[in-house]
Amino acid sequence: MTCLQEPQPLPRDPAAATVPGTFARRTAVVTGAAGFIGSHLCERLLDLGAEVVGVDNLLTGRLDNLSHLRSADGFRFHTDDVTRPFTVAGPVDFVFHLASPASPLDYARHPLTTLKVGAIGTLNTLELADAKHARFLLASTSAVYGDPLVHPQPEQYWGNVNPVGPRSVYDEAKRYAEALTSCFQRSGSTRTRIVRIFNTYGPRMRADDGRAVPAFIQQALAGEPITVAGDGSQTRSLCFVADTVAGLLAAATAEHTDPVNLGNPHEITMLQLAEEIRDMTGSASEIAFVPLPADDPKRRCPDITAARAHLGWEPTTHLRDGLRQTVDWAQQHFPRRSTATTG
Ligand code: NAD
Repeated sequence: MTCLQEPQPLPRDPAAATVPGTFARRTAVVTGAAGFIGSHLCERLLDLGAEVVGVDNLLTGRLDNLSHLRSADGFRFHTDDVTRPFTVAGPVDFVFHLASPASPLDYARHPLTTLKVGAIGTLNTLELADAKHARFLLASTSAVYGDPLVHPQPEQYWGNVNPVGPRSVYDEAKRYAEALTSCFQRSGSTRTRIVRIFNTYGPRMRADDGRAVPAFIQQALAGEPITVAGDGSQTRSLCFVADTVAGLLAAATAEHTDPVNLGNPHEITMLQLAEEIRDMTGSASEIAFVPLPADDPKRRCPDITAARAHLGWEPTTHLRDGLRQTVDWAQQHFPRRSTATTG
């Protein structure tokens, strides 16, 4: 079965899967709030009328991502490291656990910290949810499938992870986090949800986080060679951040307790992505091929049958529209390099 295909027209609003009113006057704790996805989640929860407590130790996130929310009614921010026991005053209804380095460059820089946040950080955050009788959602990842041998990946696939390779600090930390979360769920003490997020992109990604979308945009805007790993035939399926956030909210409120994939099944090769970004930025950058990193998955593509059936969710943003918004944001926010040749 292949999922290399043109995207189908998707008529629905990204937020449509969330029942209106579900989050109004509820309190949600978001760990990893100052990060890329966490900051968008905080913003959306506030839009929906929730009180939001953002928790972050700023390891890979930035306060700038939250600057527009700091004075918002209903928003509080705690600088806390979730690998140390932490608490939040007052009642809590939902705990969204997103804290973790997420890009390959970040977890290579912070290998032990990544293992700790998946293990101790997840335990501390589950204990907070347990103490508050709150619903807990773990932001897991498609990385639990490793370099998958099954395409697209359904939730029932157990994965193909190298337990001692350089990516194992992230892949295994998240697998352990899923085991911990499932243990709390089975014990009946805490209501939990697990989502496996596939590659997400959008405004507020860091130019230097090493992921393909911001790296290609940065290089294209600077007129530098766009560095594509291998021969560029490896694929990723890219989900726009507003869609991912809508999926997190839908999963948090749905009754489905098994892990669920959140991603965009439209697959694209890295070479196609580089060319698309080069065209969109009007850049004259050439494409340069560089060696593939170790254990780089050749294909990742979510089977989102479960998300459609149990959450009523599917991504609705076309890659071109999402990339346009990301490029527009990057033009305003990415550090400028002197060799810029773009129009
Ligand atoms: P990010 O690095 O932008 O955000 C992660 C945030 O967690 C950062 O603000 C960081 O400072 C914070 N953090 C890290 N360790 C912490 C600790 N010990 N205590 C408190 N805060 C801590 O990454 P992101 O892309 O926004 O990813 C968010 C979550 O989604 C992660 O759990 C990641 O594994 C998951 N995810 C992301 C993607 C993606 O494509 N972005 C894909 C799969 C899964």
